[in-house]
Amino acid sequence: MQKRDIKNFTLNELQEEVKDIGAEKYRAVQLFDFLYKKGMEDFKDMLSLPSSFRDLLQKYFYISKIGLENLVKSKDQTEKYLFKLEDGNLIESVLIFSIKRVTECISSQIGCKYNCLFCESGKKGFTRDLTVSEILNQVLFVKKRIGSILNNIVFMGIGEPLDNYGNVAKAICILNSKDAFNIGARRITISTCGVIPAIKRLQERGWQIELSVSLHAPENKLRSYLMPVNNIYPLPDLIETCKNYAEKTKRQITFEYILIKGVNDSLNYADKLAKLIGGFNSKVNLITFNPAPDSVLQAPGISQVKSFKSKLAARGIPTTIRISKGDDISAACGQLKNLYLK
Ligand code: SF4
Repeated sequence: MQKRDIKNFTLNELQEEVKDIGAEKYRAVQLFDFLYKKGMEDFKDMLSLPSSFRDLLQKYFYISKIGLENLVKSKDQTEKYLFKLEDGNLIESVLIFSIKRVTECISSQIGCKYNCLFCESGKKGFTRDLTVSEILNQVLFVKKRIGSILNNIVFMGIGEPLDNYGNVAKAICILNSKDAFNIGARRITISTCGVIPAIKRLQERGWQIELSVSLHAPENKLRSYLMPVNNIYPLPDLIETCKNYAEKTKRQITFEYILIKGVNDSLNYADKLAKLIGGFNSKVNLITFNPAPDSVLQAPGISQVKSFKSKLAARGIPTTIRISKGDDISAACGQLKNLYLK
């Protein structure tokens, strides 16, 4: 019988698993403690468990690991991790230090199906979804390195998290569990390109997690050019879904808007954006495009970014400008992997 990766199970599932091999359900809570609070990587080291139970665990399960292939550090302290999975695939995580929080940006897939024009991850196509354990191992690795100051998780790395809804949802359960990582739901953000059915599923769960939606254009035609996913889930339907989400969950939605010089950064688009999202609980996060070395797209100047922000603010839209971190280490998603594979 093939051993299974024990970090693929939520607490409820693990309780059933340990029951199935003849142990008491409460052993699952102990296992969570060993795996996620203590970061143990071998059943043999879990000495407070009966040796007969450890033997059973050894027989039916294994504890997966993630390998560090490369780590680069930016002048601004941002750290970029290139991880090697057990099947040899590479994924990235980015660790960002700010005054209020320490955030790890994690990947949810190997590659991505959606091929957004401005994104390095989309250019290599899609390989597969990450498993629950591969998602969690990114966090475990960094937590071991820097300890409990890691207090914020964003699903904003490689892949579209809502395209891997099942595994991402389970990973969130474990990240949020007080018996595991104990990271508050409001400190976990899902960033999506707008997979409408999965946003609706998230809404039904009633979680307090943050939802961040990549908009990048206030009209259908331009958005379809920048983000082909818009042909499947068009802008009007997406905005309607976001509006419902904000109303039902009472959470503020963040709309991400990457400003690309001469493409979507005119003040006319700021007006259209304000009109599109005004009237429900949302805000805009403006991001200056961070070009990869071979990108034909360019970043606008800071004065244009500020004018865009002022225009939105004048129309009553709460707006922030995200400070780009780690420019000197190719910290935009997919860039390090692409450099490494060249
Ligand atoms: S921006 Fe997100 S959805 Fe678009 S290609 Fe990149 S990873 Fe995929």
